[in-house]
Amino acid sequence: MPNQKFARPRGTRDVLPEEMEARRWLEGAFRSAFEGYGYREVQTPTFEHLELVIAKSGEEIKKHLYDFTDKGGRELVLRPELTAPVMRLYLQELTHASKPLRLYYLGNCFRYEEPQSGRYREFWQAGVELIGSPFAEAETEVIAVAAAALERTGLPAYELLIGEVGILRSILREGGAGEEDQARVMNALDKGEDVRPLMTEMGIPEECQRTLVGISRLEGGREVIAEAKEFLAGNDEALSKAAGQEELLDLLDSQGVKYGIDLGIARGLEYYTGMVFEIYAEGLGAQKQICGGGTYSLTEVFGGAATPTCGFAFGMDRLLLAMEKQGRTPPSKKKRILVVPAGSETLKKALEISAAIRKSIPCETELLRRKLKKALAYADREGIPFVVIVGEDELRKGCVVLRDMHSGEQRELRVEELDKLGLQLG
Ligand code: AMP
Repeated sequence: MPNQKFARPRGTRDVLPEEMEARRWLEGAFRSAFEGYGYREVQTPTFEHLELVIAKSGEEIKKHLYDFTDKGGRELVLRPELTAPVMRLYLQELTHASKPLRLYYLGNCFRYEEPQSGRYREFWQAGVELIGSPFAEAETEVIAVAAAALERTGLPAYELLIGEVGILRSILREGGAGEEDQARVMNALDKGEDVRPLMTEMGIPEECQRTLVGISRLEGGREVIAEAKEFLAGNDEALSKAAGQEELLDLLDSQGVKYGIDLGIARGLEYYTGMVFEIYAEGLGAQKQICGGGTYSLTEVFGGAATPTCGFAFGMDRLLLAMEKQGRTPPSKKKRILVVPAGSETLKKALEISAAIRKSIPCETELLRRKLKKALAYADREGIPFVVIVGEDELRKGCVVLRDMHSGEQRELRVEELDKLGLQLG
């Protein structure tokens, strides 16, 4: 790097060809998983009005945002996630579409955070939003789509944990906490902090505090819900949420999705209202969460009619990192053929032949006017398995030479057959 001031900004990354191929492969895997369930892709602008992001989360979130004022005096923000933008798109463009509406997206997001491994200031998310069904089967579909997408990536070691913020919120409500206080407690829970001092400060009764802390520590299999019900005796609202969760798990079981329960999942963002889930990948350390989602309510915050919605977002950068750490390498596109003009007289013909070869297989042409020996050494270094040598003598016979770089064998091929070379090499 000649001069530091021309280096990339802090928290951003350059994607080199190999990783870019892996990313495109991952995007393809996600697209086909999402489309397999009938989801259709949408795209929203990279920036939105600041208000869209702070409407639910409050001014507090501003310190994590890339917000700015444009030349027209508008307060804008580089999107920190895509759920709010997609809900805005829904309200602006699609409220009359048939329900349920299944949308998916892939896009970059921006957060002003302290960079570390797996945490960047610009990162990519892929996710879905399912709009219009209030039923457990919609929630389970969203979880099943996330599980199916992950299955397609072939990531060996991960854990999908389901929680229910409705239970936590009911306990807090019973303890007298308003929306704002609930949000503060949920936020602290999400960060893994001790929430008792905060609840004491809010005047939440000791018994409620005990219930909340007890519930938030429950982790395990389905049996955890029965334990939760014991804790919740007397709180009918919370009990009905727990029963709802059991119904949801029944439906998930019938779809063969593997999961665990963690009733302490609170999610950082404040719009979640019911089922929540997170997926953690092995080998990532602190930033191990590769996916988060759940049931939320946002449309009414944006002035629309209350609409049942749920969705999730994968962090693609983290998922790729997890795949690398777990030794799961996506298939890479190998270079296949190099066309080398042997002598300056054959350059035009070599370009013509390259174009013909490209009809059936990717091919590159020698561009550095290297002698044959050096061009072959380059092909060797790059792992290019076949070289087509365009020499004057062979051309006179209407042929070129195909060299197998692995065995060193050479044979002549007729020029008019080169457009089908890909089929021959398989
Ligand atoms: P969230 O919108 O916070 O639920 O994030 C959804 C997913 O995006 C997380 O599970 C992460 O995998 C990913 N993610 C969130 N923040 C970052 C970040 N700063 N850098 C990389 N990935 C992130």
